[in-house]
Amino acid sequence: QVARPAFAQQSAKAMVGAVRIGSNECWTGPFPAGVEAAAKIAAVGNWYEPDDEHAKLTAAVAQVEGVPAECVMAWPGSSDPLNRSVITFCSPERGLVTANPTYEQSWATAAWLGVKPDRVPLTKDYRHDVKAMLAANPKAGLYYICSPNNPTGTLTPIEDIEWLIANKPADSVVLVDEAYIHFAGTPSAAKLAGTRNDVIVMRTFSKLFGMAGMRLGLTIAHPDLYKKMMRYDGQQVSFMLPMTAVACGTASLVLADQIAARRDQMNAVREETFAHLKKRKIPYIPSHANMFMVDWGKGKNPKDMQAKFGAEGIQIGRSWDAYPTMSRVTVGSAEDMQKFRVALDKILMA
Ligand code: PLP
Repeated sequence: QVARPAFAQQSAKAMVGAVRIGSNECWTGPFPAGVEAAAKIAAVGNWYEPDDEHAKLTAAVAQVEGVPAECVMAWPGSSDPLNRSVITFCSPERGLVTANPTYEQSWATAAWLGVKPDRVPLTKDYRHDVKAMLAANPKAGLYYICSPNNPTGTLTPIEDIEWLIANKPADSVVLVDEAYIHFAGTPSAAKLAGTRNDVIVMRTFSKLFGMAGMRLGLTIAHPDLYKKMMRYDGQQVSFMLPMTAVACGTASLVLADQIAARRDQMNAVREETFAHLKKRKIPYIPSHANMFMVDWGKGKNPKDMQAKFGAEGIQIGRSWDAYPTMSRVTVGSAEDMQKFRVALDKILMA
């Protein structure tokens, strides 16, 4: 049995009253139109599905992404389809390849299967090294790409993803986790997932859409892949979804102007934070998402820094083994990040 990785150094549990910039949640609530739609449907929550809400959601996604509706499936967040993809497509013979560092949820699922994942370092400019990923295991069951990547917030160009898809074995699957893509506004792999039978694109409403606690995620994939992924539960996953989340998501995903405005606002606060780090000569990884990694330097322990920020009422994120002197920090509101800067200066002066 492969050992379960011990990466859960910090749970999403809130420190009461703290500035919460530890878990990549969105500091805003859901979009007001989404809250209104959720409140409205709560009044008819006695029905499993008051009025074909799943079909409305998949139709809206199909329209926005330009993919067939039959390729869209909704989930209670994106963790389920991520774990399910590993269980479906990996085995001790057909392994898992991911970047390192990356979002490591799939490693734990792989460990349960007895699969030791190949963890391939990011390139020097923090992209997924797709050629090295294929070389690490030329016949993996699943290649996992997270773009923008968690925890670095860095992008892997769509051309690199296309290269991997073109060069992997035909019966391997590429899972592209686009949890943070709305912050980047860069090209998605959705159209590839909508036209092929070996690519899954995964989305979540937990980040820019501000719905982490409401639980809604999506996959875009060929129905043949869903048949394999749903073998053991009779394709009943849709009945697990709360209608409040489905209605909120449907009303939110079409709000192109508000999505762009939220992205721009979040990115401006991130750049303001970077300017401060630069002034203090603290290295960081330039990011395209609502998080970044800050490097405290040689001999510094991110756990100590997390505790020091905690003492100032600021809950920053954890570290990753691949970058042992860095912490991940989520971009909060302008006010949150002002408090982060003040605490940072105080900790550095101490
Ligand atoms: N994928 C990535 C890259 C994430 O960072 C997260 C959560 O932080 C998830 C998937 C799972 O999120 P959820 O289950 O809330 O959709």
